[in-house]
Amino acid sequence: MLKVSNLQASVEGTQILKGIDLVVRPGEVHAIMGPNGSGKSTLAQVLAGNEAYDVTGGEVTLEGQSLIEMPTEQRAREGVFLAFQYPVEIPGVSNLQFLRTAINSIREYRGEEEIDAVSFMKRAKEKIKQVNLDPAFLKRGVNEGFSGGEKKRNEIMQMLMLEPKLAILDETDSGLDIDALKVVADGVNALRSPERSVIMVTHYQRLLDYIVPDYVHVLAKGKIIKSGGKELALELEEKGYGWLGIEE
Ligand code: ADP
Ligand code: MG
Ligand code: MG
Repeated sequence: MLKVSNLQASVEGTQILKGIDLVVRPGEVHAIMGPNGSGKSTLAQVLAGNEAYDVTGGEVTLEGQSLIEMPTEQRAREGVFLAFQYPVEIPGVSNLQFLRTAINSIREYRGEEEIDAVSFMKRAKEKIKQVNLDPAFLKRGVNEGFSGGEKKRNEIMQMLMLEPKLAILDETDSGLDIDALKVVADGVNALRSPERSVIMVTHYQRLLDYIVPDYVHVLAKGKIIKSGGKELALELEEKGYGWLGIEE
């Protein structure tokens, strides 16, 4: 699905990612952990194509196709979805308008007809309920005035509507109470399938009690310094990052 080779990236002239290697196969869930400032969000943003970050070396391919030169909207059409650590508000554009435009843009790219209004509404109502948000949220501006937890549920709602091939979640768990955390986890687990892959950036092990990853990677100072199975997350929970020679 995704192959990242020796990826290097900088922001405003400072190198943040210093050679990342990562292979994500279809159906796999990978967790990226690591202390604050290690480059987790940078990696997520670079994979999604945020132009504020400069790729200074290496390669990223999605199903064999290079992503580096691809603008962010085309990556989205190819099936890459990023749930932000700090979801953006889009006042004046309702959730419904936003989702319909996004879905139709993907469908147009694939040479498919626009989604019909009735089945779109049906799906939207189903998915908003799935993340425990009142259907009234569909008519509100995207994330406009939403609480932190509502924003994160809304990100999951978008993900469920768009059914991405590769979903990247950047600390979607941070600041959530246990109920909201379970909603997020259920959403991700509902999306899991042999054709889809998930990269979950998380600072805490807690989310991984509900979404069991296939692989865990520790990012520190722009490099993956350790990879393992799900037991690595438990080890980090127990021992912190110190034993890996990283300060928190
Ligand atoms: P993490 O998500 O692991 O906490 P980030 O990727 O957000 O880490 O940040 C990695 C480093 O890059 C930090 O030192 C941060 O200050 C720096 N950084 C991130 N974004 C920017 C930016 N837009 N401008 C300047 N520095 C940035
Ligand atoms: Mg951070
Ligand atoms: Mg971050």
